[in-house]
Amino acid sequence: MNGRVYNFSSGPAVMPEPVLERAAEEMLNYRSSGMSVMEMSHRSAVYDGIIKHTEQLLRELMNIPDDYYVLFLQGGASLQFDMIPMNLATGSGKVDVVMTGMWTKRAYAELKKLAEPRIVASSEDRTFTYIPGLSADMFDPEADYVHVCWNNTIYGTRFPEIPPCGRPLVADMSSCILSEPVDVSRFGCIFAGAQKNLGPAGLTIVIIRKDLVGKQPENIPTMLSFETHATNQSLYNTPPTYSIYLCGLVLEWLRDAGGVEAIERINRRKAGMLYSFLDGSRLFRATVHGRDRSLMNIPFVTGNAETDAEFVAAATGAGLVNLKGHRSVGGMRASIYNAMPEEGVARLVEFMEAFEKKH
Ligand SMILES: *Cc1c(COP(=O)(O)O)cnc(C)c1O
Repeated sequence: MNGRVYNFSSGPAVMPEPVLERAAEEMLNYRSSGMSVMEMSHRSAVYDGIIKHTEQLLRELMNIPDDYYVLFLQGGASLQFDMIPMNLATGSGKVDVVMTGMWTKRAYAELKKLAEPRIVASSEDRTFTYIPGLSADMFDPEADYVHVCWNNTIYGTRFPEIPPCGRPLVADMSSCILSEPVDVSRFGCIFAGAQKNLGPAGLTIVIIRKDLVGKQPENIPTMLSFETHATNQSLYNTPPTYSIYLCGLVLEWLRDAGGVEAIERINRRKAGMLYSFLDGSRLFRATVHGRDRSLMNIPFVTGNAETDAEFVAAATGAGLVNLKGHRSVGGMRASIYNAMPEEGVARLVEFMEAFEKKH
């Protein structure tokens, strides 16, 4: 044992252990360069190799078509709530939003400052515990794009299918990117903060169809224009060099584990273990049901706030940490991203069984 715990944090989150070991080995002297990656010029040949390799790996793993840019940015997923409207809501200015939780509320609040958003459907009536049913006639054919949050980190829902929106679909995939295959060609733009499934905080990935870039107004600030980053291969200014390198190591780890199809099978087993325990439990219950259940974030409750707190404290004592739910939902939440080993989920379920027996 190296003293590590099973970390169910929603983000920043668990990293694959082999990645951390590899980063430690390469910390002082990256492949005979004589320096750490964090000491390197982003214009050096060695670093150019790192960023190109990282992009190539992501393209292979996600099967990203050639008519899409992959951008390595900063500012988190949250900056995309501004950057995307500034660059894309430039035709009619109308944007359709499917309201499925706190992250779409944040996006909507920014959209109100920058465009003309409209809520197509919402699941707020039942604390965002489901994804609203969507049909083609609900969407505005004039909308510049449709904004969705593919996996709702806080509430534990995820879109079961691509909505028939007929307009460019912009998806926040911060907490589910690379957890299961997605057909990138069906999206206009996919974006994700790295700190859940891709690496450490500080890096944001934007995958955007090339024809959607270049629609920004003349006076857009340079750093907020997708075109700036697209035409400079994300090297207009200093990118988050070390986070990109670590993201590359995570992608290598995923490739060596068999890629997205292989990790999806593992993710289904992990989530299945926890959901089937919850569905049979007399003490705990899941807050989301049916096909909208997330593979990555699983909220659950006992129905009694004191018992919840007791459970979280006892689990922490047993090395199962960061299980407290988001303040807006209460109870517990297990975030079981790609890097969470199956063993970690098995240990959690065993612990919950034992806790249930005592109550
Ligand atoms: C974590 C998260 C965000 C916020 O990401 P930041 O990188 O902190 O801005 C946005 N959307 C979703 C779905 C998230 O899970």
